[in-house]
Amino acid sequence: KVFTADEIRQSVQEENVQFLRLMFTDINGMIKNVEVPVSQLEKVLSNKVTMDGSSIDGFVRIEESDMLLYPDLSTYLIFPWGNDHGRVARFICSVHLSDGTPFAGDPRNNLIRQVDIMKQSGYTSFNIGPEPEFFLFKLDENGQPTTKLNDKGSYFDFAPLDLGENCRRDIVLELEKMGFEVEASHHEVAPGQHEIDFKYADALEAADNIQTFKLVVKTIARKHGLYATFMPKPLHGINGSGMHINMSLFNQQGNVFYDEDGEEKLSDTAMHFLAGLLTHARALTAINNPIVNSYKRLVPGFEAPVYIAWSGHNRSPLIRVPSARGLSTRLELRSVDPAANPYLAIAAILAAGLDGVREGLQPEEAVDRNIYRMRPSERKENHIQDLPSTLHNALKALEDDDVVIASMGDHLFQSFMDSKSMEWMAYRQQVGDWERDQYLELY
Ligand code: GLN
Ligand code: MG
Ligand code: MG
Ligand code: MG
Repeated sequence: KVFTADEIRQSVQEENVQFLRLMFTDINGMIKNVEVPVSQLEKVLSNKVTMDGSSIDGFVRIEESDMLLYPDLSTYLIFPWGNDHGRVARFICSVHLSDGTPFAGDPRNNLIRQVDIMKQSGYTSFNIGPEPEFFLFKLDENGQPTTKLNDKGSYFDFAPLDLGENCRRDIVLELEKMGFEVEASHHEVAPGQHEIDFKYADALEAADNIQTFKLVVKTIARKHGLYATFMPKPLHGINGSGMHINMSLFNQQGNVFYDEDGEEKLSDTAMHFLAGLLTHARALTAINNPIVNSYKRLVPGFEAPVYIAWSGHNRSPLIRVPSARGLSTRLELRSVDPAANPYLAIAAILAAGLDGVREGLQPEEAVDRNIYRMRPSERKENHIQDLPSTLHNALKALEDDDVVIASMGDHLFQSFMDSKSMEWMAYRQQVGDWERDQYLELY
């Protein structure tokens, strides 16, 4: 919904809003916010709230540290969990330089830029339906998260096994109060693991929704004495958490992935887009799976993709084409995990797909057999490559891919590489329990 400034002034009064929270996202996907009392509303509405960008990861540049927050009025939302101090409303903001130009290091601005490029090619929207998964862990007496699971449930289980169900139900209710349309919510395969799917939205709104969703899940879980984590692989030996991304591309006429007369009713554009995703899959991994821990999820045996292939029928490959057709025709990218910065991920996915369309790329044949049972030589014969197995390998792939680099722009690419190279360096120097258990007495 688009709100006018006057509608917001009125709502703030009527709903007893006392604080305004101005949210934006740093390069690591972390939500940052500046909170101002409602007395500052006019300043907020005229884009005059400043913040010090030099203290935000990936923003740096001391000389440009005074930055302005431009609220996107369509993101105005009153949090349902008010308290004695009155209610809190939020805006999601774009970060601008003090001269008013959009800051290139803001991932949200970058997604807006990428969507504009898409529009110049004649498309009207890139619809994204995410399937975020997460674990619920118990909190200890001090309110600190533990790694103790709170249930023994499994896929689609019913209570009483599923003790997280009450918590999940509360989360769904809060989300609905905030305007989310929740399409599905269920226990996932692993104990303590859940998934909540909400209705698709256009690229920017979808990325905003993912950020809001994480905030709601964490807030409500705490009220139940639980900690919700979107860490991709919190526990060894059981499934990790993914965030599958369903996507479709629209123009004035409708869903361009659908073609009544196409093979499997998929259009040429859908096949080119799919080929673009496959071609750039290795570089995309750095953005879609951005932390060291992401790669502990991308291993065989836990329903997460390991190889670069697609299928219309099989669920295990990197890209699946769900059976729905017509307006719901879509591609599902299964590698993405919830640690990804949704603004960067969606921009990169869009750029990769559009590159496939622009270049008229054709995908390899669909693979409907179980890739995990193939011998390496068989995979090679079928041109099935591996996804990068470590953050280090993914970063190397990113450095070699101009299309995916361009989807971030120079500023974001440089900050991303700096930050992620440091993360990899810190990690590779660690010596862990597994190594000591394996080697100490053996050598
Ligand atoms: N948890 C799995 C993953 O890591 C997905 C399981 C599923 O949704 N069927 O992607
Ligand atoms: Mg799902
Ligand atoms: Mg799932
Ligand atoms: Mg899925």
